Amino acid sequence: MYNITRDYIRLGNSRSGQKIQRVRFIVSHDTGNPGSTAYNNWSHFNNNQPSASAHTFIDDKYILEMIPLNEKAWHVQYNKPIDNRMFGDDANDAAIGVELCWGGKINFQEAYKRYVWYHAYLCKTFNLDPRKHIVAHQTLDPERRSDPINALKRHGITWEKFINDVVYHFQWESKPKVLGVSKGDLTVRIQKGDKGEMVKLIHFFLASLGYTQTKHVEIDEYQDFTVDAVRRFQEDQKLRKPTPGVVDFETFSAFAKVLHVYYKDRL
Ligand SMILES: [Zn+2]
Repeated sequence: MYNITRDYIRLGNSRSGQKIQRVRFIVSHDTGNPGSTAYNNWSHFNNNQPSASAHTFIDDKYILEMIPLNEKAWHVQYNKPIDNRMFGDDANDAAIGVELCWGGKINFQEAYKRYVWYHAYLCKTFNLDPRKHIVAHQTLDPERRSDPINALKRHGITWEKFINDVVYHFQWESKPKVLGVSKGDLTVRIQKGDKGEMVKLIHFFLASLGYTQTKHVEIDEYQDFTVDAVRRFQEDQKLRKPTPGVVDFETFSAFAKVLHVYYKDRL
C-alpha cells in the first residue's frame, strides 16, 4: 500500500472549505508543468492561492492530498456542460480532482504507478466504477485542455490502458481471496489445454506481472502464450523443481508470493 500524505493548504481562493455533498466521479488531470513536483504545487497553491486547484498531486514520491476529500476544489470550469450531462453535476461540486506530476526529474513510472493506485483507491473508497466514473479533464473541456491524455501519451500510455490498469488494482482489492486458494485445490497440475476459472486466474496473475497483456485476462484456456509466459515467470523465479510451462503448486505459490509483495508495496 502506498502512503497518502495529507498535508492541507491553508484556506483561501484555492481552498474554500465548502463541503462536497457526495463524490460521484473522479477527474484525472496532469499539471502540464514539466518537472514541478507535488510539493512544488503545494507551495504554489498554499502561498499564491490561485482560484484553481485540485485535491491531490502525485509524483514519484508523494501522493499528496492538499485539499480534504470532503471539500470542493476548483479543477473544471463551472460553465462547461459535459460534466453535468455525464454525471448530473458540476465536477467542482461532486468530483475529486487528481493531478499527475511529470517531466524533469520526476520518474514517470513511479509517478504513474501511484496515480493508477490512487484512482483505484478512490473508486473503492467512494464506491465508484473505474470504467464509468473516471473522466479525463480533456473530455470535460476539450477546447482548452488535453490533460492527462497528452502527458500519458508522451509515455506511450493510452487512456484505455490507464483505465485498464486502474481496473486491475481495483479488482485485486475487491478479491483478496485469490491468495487464499488452498493446497487441496492445486493437487492437479494446470497446463496446456486446460480450461476454466483457474486458468483465468493464472492469466490474471501473468498480466498483473507484465508477462502477458491485459486482453488475455478473460481467456479461460491454457494456450501456447500461457506456456511461454509461465516458463518465463518460472525462470525469473528460479524455482527449485521447475515444471517448465506447467503451473504446479510451487509455481502457484510463487505467483501468490510475488503478487502479494507486488501488491503489498502498492496497496
Ligand atoms: Zn486539468
